[in-house]
Amino acid sequence: MPPFASKEKLDLLSITKPEMERFIHLQGWKPYRAEQILRWIYQRNVTQINDMTDLSIHDRTHLGFIATIKRPTITTVLQSQDGTAKFLIQLHDGATVETVLIPERDRRTVCISTQIGCSLDCRFCLTAKLGLKRNLNAGEIIGQFLSVQDYLEKTYKTPPRLTNVVMMGMGEPLANIEPVRAAIQNMIHGRCGLGLSPRRITISTAGIPNKFRDIVELGVNLAVSLNASTNEQRRTIMPAANKICPLPELLDVCRSLPLPHRRRLTFEYVLLRGVNDSPQDAVRLARSIRGIPCMVNLIPFNEIPRSSYAKPDEATVLAFQNILIRQNIDTYLRKSKGPDVFGACGQLGASTRELLCTMPK
Ligand code: SAH
Repeated sequence: MPPFASKEKLDLLSITKPEMERFIHLQGWKPYRAEQILRWIYQRNVTQINDMTDLSIHDRTHLGFIATIKRPTITTVLQSQDGTAKFLIQLHDGATVETVLIPERDRRTVCISTQIGCSLDCRFCLTAKLGLKRNLNAGEIIGQFLSVQDYLEKTYKTPPRLTNVVMMGMGEPLANIEPVRAAIQNMIHGRCGLGLSPRRITISTAGIPNKFRDIVELGVNLAVSLNASTNEQRRTIMPAANKICPLPELLDVCRSLPLPHRRRLTFEYVLLRGVNDSPQDAVRLARSIRGIPCMVNLIPFNEIPRSSYAKPDEATVLAFQNILIRQNIDTYLRKSKGPDVFGACGQLGASTRELLCTMPK
């Protein structure tokens, strides 16, 4: 629950609809005010309480004394040659978070961060090298969406709408579940949230299985980063995640997850040359996920500085994919998006200076 009684102003972006209703009740206002205010924030995109013009001046002044809308600010936009854009977004304590916009033919996906740094230590991921700086709150999570939408509105004459959300940016979403849940609730609420279909939202996890049901209950998609075909392999490349839950148990939880009708899990699998990319790995992977309603996203390793890992060559990647396909597993190859701006999977977290140095002039 937000600190309604504290001296600090309440951040209206960080609360859910029931919390807003409680807050409105505490002000002695009529219940309909809750939806009215939420619609201003999420559907009419105001950033100032003073712009909520169907509230009386008196009520706006009162609200402004006790509450605020803490929208984060885009400080830098790094445009990739492939159309991907990486945004450096400044939060209210001065910390910077990274968000990526991936435009494709029929959709525009925003890849959102849920922590600054990450609590896990996956060896192939740049964000992990930062350690966990702090968790983001719900407003800082959904604020990334609003800021990028704002940017599109200011940049284009006929601004495109964001259509999809993936929580695959910096951090481990399930290690910060409450703010993630609150942000998702505000994303999917039709009357006074962003009105996104839960099918268009995907949460990616390195595997914190006691939170899987929470995600499934929200109706959004769950992607699990398996990344290994044996427990030993996974322990080596994802030590912290595999300590939370070893691979065999993780697969058991996935198998017994009560997925809604016609929904399936996504398994992500980062391909690391000579580590987990052999035909035997593909055969083992196929065997271990058989019977689980799922699809597989293969992600050839994206380069990060000072890493001993490498990307497999194309023939190895295609051979791996074909083995899975021959086992009737829907398997997609995820194209690397925005590698020239360090915007691809696992590349978030390079300092701005480091980034600007590596960018083509
Ligand atoms: N912590 C969450 C979400 C962030 S990582 C998770 O682990 O799922 C998002 C995806 O990027 C994961 O599937 C992860 O395995 C993958 N990834 C991390 N580093 C990568 C790299 N260097 N190259 C390719 N994919 C990477």
